[in-house]
Amino acid sequence: MKSKKSPSAVVLLSGGLDSATVLYWAKAQGFKCYCLIFDYGQLHKKEIIYAKKIAQASGSNYQIVKITFPWKGSALLDKKIALPKKIVKGVPSSYVAARNIVFLSFALSFAETIKAQRIFIGAHAQDYSGYPDCRPEFIAAFRRMAQKGMLEKVEISAPLLFKTKAQIIRLGQKLGVPFALTWSCYRGGRYPCGKCDSCYYRAKGFKSLGLGDPLKIKK
Ligand SMILES: [Zn+2]
Repeated sequence: MKSKKSPSAVVLLSGGLDSATVLYWAKAQGFKCYCLIFDYGQLHKKEIIYAKKIAQASGSNYQIVKITFPWKGSALLDKKIALPKKIVKGVPSSYVAARNIVFLSFALSFAETIKAQRIFIGAHAQDYSGYPDCRPEFIAAFRRMAQKGMLEKVEISAPLLFKTKAQIIRLGQKLGVPFALTWSCYRGGRYPCGKCDSCYYRAKGFKSLGLGDPLKIKK
């Protein structure tokens, strides 16, 4: 009997718990995963280190893509712009203009080249910072755009789109995601700052489930 080759997928991996959960979700669906980790000029490289750990732990292929946003314009890229200390009204200073559009475009190019059938992204529109390129209508529009502008058919999946942080953590637990190897803080200090909005949503998610954060810090 001929063995059926498993389908392949490109997974956008950031080092945070959302994209890690999406990677394990894709694996559970039977995809052979190729992770794209972006070194896009973020001020701290910690999330890249954690993204590599997650890719390795899951036994997936990965590559780091180095790009720049020379105009910066985000607290993640420019030391002179302060990160919001608490949850702000509107889109916070951590927003990187069109970042998911850029990342997904790279993923489409990569997917078509390696003949991957699917792209997975961990965008979600609950318990998040209100970034416009995480909205469901953006994902739907990008999917339509990809159908028009590609030689191959590549499907885009955002399985967390309507989930809360707590639901994502619950799903990750079921999938066996090693949350201890995920990093969410926007600051790359030795310990998570506990103050940025990314830390806030992560802590809220674990707390609402009555769990402690399993992140392991090397002493
Ligand atoms: Zn933080």
